[in-house]
Amino acid sequence: MSPETSLLKRAERVMPGGVNSPVRAFRGVGGEPVFVRAAEGCYLQAEDGRRYLDFIGGYGPHILGHGAEPIAQAVHDALRRGTAFGAPTIAEIELAEQMIAAVPSLEMVRLVNSGTEATMSALRVARGATGRSKFVKFEGCYHGHGDAFLIAAGSGAATLGVPSSPGVPAAVVEDTLLAPFNDLSAVAMLFEAHDDIAAVFVEPIAGNMGLVPPREGFLEGLRRLCDERGAVLVFDEVMTGFRVAWGGAQEILGVTPDLTTFGKVIGGGLPIGAYGGRRDLMSQVAPAGPIYQAGTLSGNPLAVAAGRAALSTLAGTDAYEILEAAGGALASGLRESARRHGVPLRVQRQGSMLGLFFAEGPVESIADVDASDRDRFQRVFHRLLADGIHLPPSPYETLFLSLAHGPEEIERTVEAFDRAVAPEA
Ligand code: PLP
Repeated sequence: MSPETSLLKRAERVMPGGVNSPVRAFRGVGGEPVFVRAAEGCYLQAEDGRRYLDFIGGYGPHILGHGAEPIAQAVHDALRRGTAFGAPTIAEIELAEQMIAAVPSLEMVRLVNSGTEATMSALRVARGATGRSKFVKFEGCYHGHGDAFLIAAGSGAATLGVPSSPGVPAAVVEDTLLAPFNDLSAVAMLFEAHDDIAAVFVEPIAGNMGLVPPREGFLEGLRRLCDERGAVLVFDEVMTGFRVAWGGAQEILGVTPDLTTFGKVIGGGLPIGAYGGRRDLMSQVAPAGPIYQAGTLSGNPLAVAAGRAALSTLAGTDAYEILEAAGGALASGLRESARRHGVPLRVQRQGSMLGLFFAEGPVESIADVDASDRDRFQRVFHRLLADGIHLPPSPYETLFLSLAHGPEEIERTVEAFDRAVAPEA
C-alpha cells in the first residue's frame, strides 16, 4: 500500500464505505472521516496526528468521558477473571438491580448485546404478549437496524436518504404503521383503523433527527391510547437512558411505559443492550415463558463490569447537574454567537444532548429537520473540524457532552463556532 493512499481508500477496499456503521463515513457532510487512534476525556487523537475536541461521544455511551478510570479499572479486573462463561454471574444480577432501582417502570430486565437487539426483542415480547402483529413507530425515530423498524428511520438512514432498505421484505414492514413524531391525532387514527396494534414504539425524547423533544401531552396521549386499546407502550431509551437523567427520559417526563429499551450508557462503552419493564410481560420471556430470546455473549462479563462501573460512578456524583450546566452554557453560547451574526440557529437540548439546526422556528418533526439549512450545517461542520472540533458528521445526529467537557472546552467550542458561522472574509 503506497503511503499516499488515504486510510479511507484503504478501508473502502475491505469494508462497505470503509466503515462498520454508515454515519462514520461522513456521507452526511462530505469529505473523509477522521480515523481515530485513541481517545481520552473529551479528546480524540487522530491517525493524522491531530487532536479533536469530541462531541460524538461514541454516539452516547461515554457520559464519563473516554477512558474513565472507574470503567478502565473494572474492565481490567473483569478481563483477568474471564471474558465469557455461558453461565450466570452475580455481576449481571447487580447491574439489573442497579437499573431497576434507578428506573421505576422496570420490574425485570434482560441483557442483550446492542440497542438493535433490545428493540427487536421488546417488539417480540409486545407481539407475543398481545397476540397481535402491528406496531406504530414514528418518522425520524431510530430503533436500530432490525427489519421491522427500518422504515422512515432517523440519523444514519436519513443521512443516506433511504427511508427503507433493500433486503427488508415488504411483508415484514407491512405491520409497521408510521406516524409523524409529535402527532397524537395521527396515532389515534391508526388505532381507529387497526384493532390489532401490539405496541407503540417511541424515543420519548427523539435523538436520531437531531434532538426533538416531545410536545406537551404527546407521550401522555400515547399512554392513554395504549391503555384504551390494550397495546404495549415501549420507550426506546437506548440513547436517553441514564443519559438525560438517572431515571431516563421517563423520569423527566413523568410518563410510565410498559417496556423500555437501553444500550449505550449502561455498557460504559462496551457492547450492550437491555430491555425490561412490567413483570407480567417480562415473565413471558424464555425460559420463564414461551417468548424466545437468547444470546451467546449476553450479559458479557466485560460489558457488565463496564456498565456497573459507569452506573456506580453516575450514582455517586452530581453528574446530571454538572452535565446540565455544561449543556446550558454551550447552548446559550452557540445561540448568542448565531444571533450576533444574524444566522438562524435553533439549539434544542436535554441535559447533555444537543440538536443544532440552522432553522428559524422550533423543530418538532423529521419534516422540520429536512427543511433546516443542512448545507450550512455541512459548511459549519467542516470549519469546526478544521479548528479541531469534531461534531457528529450529520445534521441528523445529536451532540453528546461528557463530564470531561469543562468550561474551557465549552468556551473554546463557542469561539470556534463564532468563527465558523461568521461570513467568509
Ligand atoms: N435505539 C435508539 C434510540 C438508538 O439511538 C440506537 C442507536 O443509535 C439504537 C436503538 C440501536 O442501538 P445499537 O446501535 O446499539 O444497535
